[in-house]
Amino acid sequence: MHDFLSSPLEFLKGVGPQRAELLGKELGVFTFGDLLHHYPFRYVDRTRFYTIREISADIPIIQIKGKIRSITPRGEKRKKYLSAVFYDETGSLELKWFKGLRWITSSLRLNTEYVLFGKPTLFNGNWNIIHPELELVSEGSGSTASALQPVYNTTEKMKARGLDSRGLMKLQKTLLEKLPENIPETLPDELITQLRMISGHRAIRHIHFPGDIHQQKMAEWRIKFEEQFYLQLRLLNLKIIRKQKKKGAVFKIIGDHFNRFFHHVLPFELTHAQKRVIREIRADFSSGRQMNRLLQGDVGSGKTLVALMCMLIAADNGFQACLMAPTEILAAQHAATIAEFLSASGLKSALLTGSIKGKQRREILADLESGEIHILIGTHAIIEEAVKFHNLGFVVIDEQHRFGVEQRARMWDKNENPPHVLVMTATPIPRTLAMTLYGDLDVSILDEMPPGRKPIHTIHRLDSHRLEVWGFLKKEIASGRQVYIVYPLIEESEKMDLKNLFDGYEAVCRDFPAPEYRVSIVHGRMKASDKDFEMQRFLKKETNIMVATSVIEVGVNIPNASVMVIENAERFGLSQLHQLRGRVGRGSDQSYCILMTGYKLSHEGRTRIKTMCETNDGFRIAETDLLLRGPGDAEGTRQSGMLDLKLADISRDQSILQAARTEATKILQSDPLLNSENHRLLKSRLDALNKRSGNWGKIS
Ligand code: ADP
Ligand code: MG
Repeated sequence: MHDFLSSPLEFLKGVGPQRAELLGKELGVFTFGDLLHHYPFRYVDRTRFYTIREISADIPIIQIKGKIRSITPRGEKRKKYLSAVFYDETGSLELKWFKGLRWITSSLRLNTEYVLFGKPTLFNGNWNIIHPELELVSEGSGSTASALQPVYNTTEKMKARGLDSRGLMKLQKTLLEKLPENIPETLPDELITQLRMISGHRAIRHIHFPGDIHQQKMAEWRIKFEEQFYLQLRLLNLKIIRKQKKKGAVFKIIGDHFNRFFHHVLPFELTHAQKRVIREIRADFSSGRQMNRLLQGDVGSGKTLVALMCMLIAADNGFQACLMAPTEILAAQHAATIAEFLSASGLKSALLTGSIKGKQRREILADLESGEIHILIGTHAIIEEAVKFHNLGFVVIDEQHRFGVEQRARMWDKNENPPHVLVMTATPIPRTLAMTLYGDLDVSILDEMPPGRKPIHTIHRLDSHRLEVWGFLKKEIASGRQVYIVYPLIEESEKMDLKNLFDGYEAVCRDFPAPEYRVSIVHGRMKASDKDFEMQRFLKKETNIMVATSVIEVGVNIPNASVMVIENAERFGLSQLHQLRGRVGRGSDQSYCILMTGYKLSHEGRTRIKTMCETNDGFRIAETDLLLRGPGDAEGTRQSGMLDLKLADISRDQSILQAARTEATKILQSDPLLNSENHRLLKSRLDALNKRSGNWGKIS
């Protein structure tokens, strides 16, 4: 039976080698089974009839009962077409045919009741239907008239070869007619009974050709559940395997380094959330198993501080620690903060980035290997082959989504006893998505801001109000504040964007003349040392305006900067906007974020701007982002390549996700490695899935 599903598509009647190749290329559909999993993305309700008066632009496809009053050939020569007037009791519209005129003329009947089906288009203010489907009511085949008709995704290339939605529907029909009754069930019987699901076989039939909406819903639920269930089962299973296998160094004590910092160096009280997260990490450190934890918290919630304190625990236990940042600027800033905190501690920290070379680099590498350096801060440079630690016990990765997951994996390989890993992200991921994306990671959340922060005030201004905005900036600068002005820089159009940036820079210099105002500029094409120089000038308040691209997006900490102006704000994604905004609001003064856009905005752009103006809550923003873009786009998910969900949508199908997760958890609790006879099906499916996606397990 298995053979049936894995048969190559070219052997399906109506396909053949050429179409099979096309289907493979365009849809990634190669076998009978693949085609069956190419689900409709919507249905047309053939049970719903409209009247002509009801036609509107919102109804893409329409079904009407009516009669043909007249048929007239129109146009000349090559532009000939056939026009007919179709009417019901509410009005009339024009039908047009451009092909097969003779045959159509002879087969149409006047004043006889038809069911018409087609896509209305507006032409010179009148409704038209081109090449409608017509069926005599007297001949009406009950089957199509009472069913939901599937609509499939296709591509232009496919349409050119007759594989439009209808073409695909025909193939599905042919295939389903041949589908053996006894194809194997893909979920355990117990689960099917318990959750009152329909069989896999029926689900496949009904998802393509539901008899009614109820059948369609039942099929959809079953398929979505199955997708989510196996995803969760895999994730949880990986977590179990990892926890069993990966022994981790045990950090037994909380020693002098931690205690002295906590009691004498730390200039403020930790928030409750920070205390909770440190406790969670301490529990992992002493568990004897490798920690693999994601720390989520909005910009400024104090993640770096938590990480530093945990590095002190590593040091207390004689282990080295390192912190990886996504950019040189950030790494340098972390290094400076940490060095300051460590100044009287007897611990040695160092910075290692790509631009540190020669003798200095050799010295750092030597001190690292001998164990003289306790804490290393750096960029990707840290995971190069040449970098050898004496005994690395704890790795902190800042802003996880900027690192490819492979890089994380390489970190593992460095050591026989893998270090504990803490991944920090300021792009909060909605809980449901985090559960799935990081289902095999433990998650800690800093959901409390240090006291005394004023929420950032965010406003939307049109480009035409620039003067007013500039006036506001001047007022802020006059009272000693500093200002960011950010331009989009998106890879594909980098040249254009750089031009925008420089034009913007010139305009800013003109509108904010020296000596009263001083303007810095930073962008991704600059040498690291130049960038650093400019950042330093801004930090030291030698300049009061920083014109930049989104290179300043992550982590940079300049508490005196109180205004963030984002130009062409509609071009940024929500999470990016939120990150950018996080650059201000770090001091005790009221901060502002001004989103500049043109008058014209797409619906999505408008929603993003509106969301930003309404909330500072990173989790809410992440939820909206996910809804707008879908999980496939959410940062970090593309590279993980694991969301093999065809029908289920993590953000919209949260209740199914919960159900799937609950069931998967129950099963794994009773039988963690799925060794029991009852779970043979699950085990073999899981093995197959894991095999297909390679060493994915190692990565997370
Ligand atoms: P994140 O890494 O989450 O953006 P940081 O750890 O860089 O946050 O902290 C942001 C700022 O807040 C830093 O200047 C830090 O010293 C300060 N900070 C951290 N925790 C607290 C606290 N509990 N109370 C007051 N200030 C804090
Ligand atoms: Mg940070």
